[in-house]
Amino acid sequence: MNKYFGSLHVLKDIDLHVDPGEVVVVIGPSGSGKSTLLRCMNRLETVSGGELTVLDMALGGRKADVNRLRRDIGMVFQHFNLYPHRTVLDNITLAPVQVLGQTKSEAEAHARHLLAKVGIPEKADVFPSQLSGGQQQRVAIARGLAMKPKIMLFDEPTSALDPEMIGEVLGVMKQLAMEGMTMVVVTHEMGFAREVADRVIFMDEGRIVEEGAPAAFFGQPKAERAKLFLSRVL
Ligand code: ADP
Ligand code: MG
Repeated sequence: MNKYFGSLHVLKDIDLHVDPGEVVVVIGPSGSGKSTLLRCMNRLETVSGGELTVLDMALGGRKADVNRLRRDIGMVFQHFNLYPHRTVLDNITLAPVQVLGQTKSEAEAHARHLLAKVGIPEKADVFPSQLSGGQQQRVAIARGLAMKPKIMLFDEPTSALDPEMIGEVLGVMKQLAMEGMTMVVVTHEMGFAREVADRVIFMDEGRIVEEGAPAAFFGQPKAERAKLFLSRVL
C-alpha cells in the first residue's frame, strides 16, 4: 500500500494485516507516517494499491464500503475533539442515534455503561470544559466504543495530557485490550507498548522498518534506526 500527498511519497510499500483481538502498537519518529497510516485505515485518506486489511475488511480497493468501515472502526485522537457545547452524554449518544438508529434511551443506557467502564459514571451531564484532559480523553474513548466498533485506532491518545493523567487513559486502553478489543495504537509510551502490545511496528520515513513481538523488539532491535530511536526514548 502506498500513499502520496501530491508528489510526496508518505507511505511506502506498507503491507499490514491486523487480526481479531490483536493489539498493534506503532512507534517511530515524528513525520514517519504513523498518523497517515491510521487515517488510511479508516479511510480519512485514500490509498493507492497494495494490501491493507483489518480483520476481514480490505481497506485499499475502491469498492470498500467507506460508511461501513467508518462505523466499524473507532478512532481516538491526540486532541479529544469533543463537541464543546454538548454534554458528555450527548457527545457519546449523538452518533449511535444518528448513524446506528438507536433510540435515545437505548443509546443513553449504553453511554452510562461506557462511562462507568472508563471510570467516570458521575460525569454524564457535565460539559467537556468541566473535565480534566484525562477525563475528556476517556469520554472520547467511550464515544468511540458507543458505535460498537470492531477495531479501535488510537493516535497518540496521551500526548496532549499532563503526566499525571497519562496513566488513567492508558489504564482504560489496557483494560480494553484485555477484553479482546482489536486495537492499533500510535504512542510514545514504551511501557504500554512493552506490556500490552502483541506486535510492535517501527516506522521510519514511510516504511515499516521493523516489526515483532515487544520482547524481541525492545530486547534486540535489529534495525539501526530502531536502535537509535529506542536509545533516545527509553
Ligand atoms: P507522524 O504521525 O508519524 O508524525 P504523519 O503521518 O503525520 O507522520 O506525516 C507523514 C508525512 O506526511 C510528513 O512528511 C507530513 O508532513 C506529511 N503529511 C501529512 N499529512 C499531509 C497532508 N494532508 N498533506 C500533505 N502532506 C502531509
Ligand atoms: Mg502523528
